Amino acid sequence: MRLVLLGPPGGGKGTQATRLAAAFKVPHIATGDLFRFEITQGSELGKLADSYITRGNLVPDSVVNDMMRGRLKEGDCEGFILDGFPRTLEQAHVLEETLEQISRPVEVAVNLVVPDDVIVERAAGRRVCRQCGAVYHLTAKPPKVSGVCDVCSSALTVREDDQPETVRHRLEVYHRSTEPVVEYYQSKGLLLDVDGVGNPNEIFENICAKIQSVCYN
Ligand code: AMP
Repeated sequence: MRLVLLGPPGGGKGTQATRLAAAFKVPHIATGDLFRFEITQGSELGKLADSYITRGNLVPDSVVNDMMRGRLKEGDCEGFILDGFPRTLEQAHVLEETLEQISRPVEVAVNLVVPDDVIVERAAGRRVCRQCGAVYHLTAKPPKVSGVCDVCSSALTVREDDQPETVRHRLEVYHRSTEPVVEYYQSKGLLLDVDGVGNPNEIFENICAKIQSVCYN
């Protein structure tokens, strides 16, 4: 399965991508995670990416495209779930070219549809563990002890790009730069819209049912 997962920032792409990758036994490739890893390593790429990410801006296309060209040509990428890439039309074109070269085109693009007010509410309640990467939500998935990670007992923090002004800015960037990517996949007949509000298990079932109806019928 070669699947692109689209949707607004904080719309649940990471959760669904993790499940899809396990279900289809393909790598989950998340550009946001790749950048966060580089940031923790203190690499030059990490420092550059951090200066964009903390302001809620997109990392420049040239940087993202170089990173992804390399990643997609690795041996484990016969199938993949792409999470957070492509986020601009330019990235979508580079993805298409790169996959054409290795004869592994995108088969389906799933678009999680989530209204802006739901995104703002979710981000306000999200808490993360910088030590082990676990993610919580104050009401939907609270830790057992307030402010403490269940997994490794480290203090939980708010992701800098989850601050309310940053979230609103990320949504503006999403509408301006990434919605055209949704239209791009629609024009290619590859787009499946899925309601992204509600129980993650049900959302996952809906995604699988839609994929089944287009890919295996
Ligand atoms: P995410 O975890 O997918 O929400 O990504 C976190 C941040 O990483 C985004 O707000 C962007 O600053 C940056 N980022 C991730 N993927 C991309 C991409 N495809 N293009 C540009 N910036 C990206």
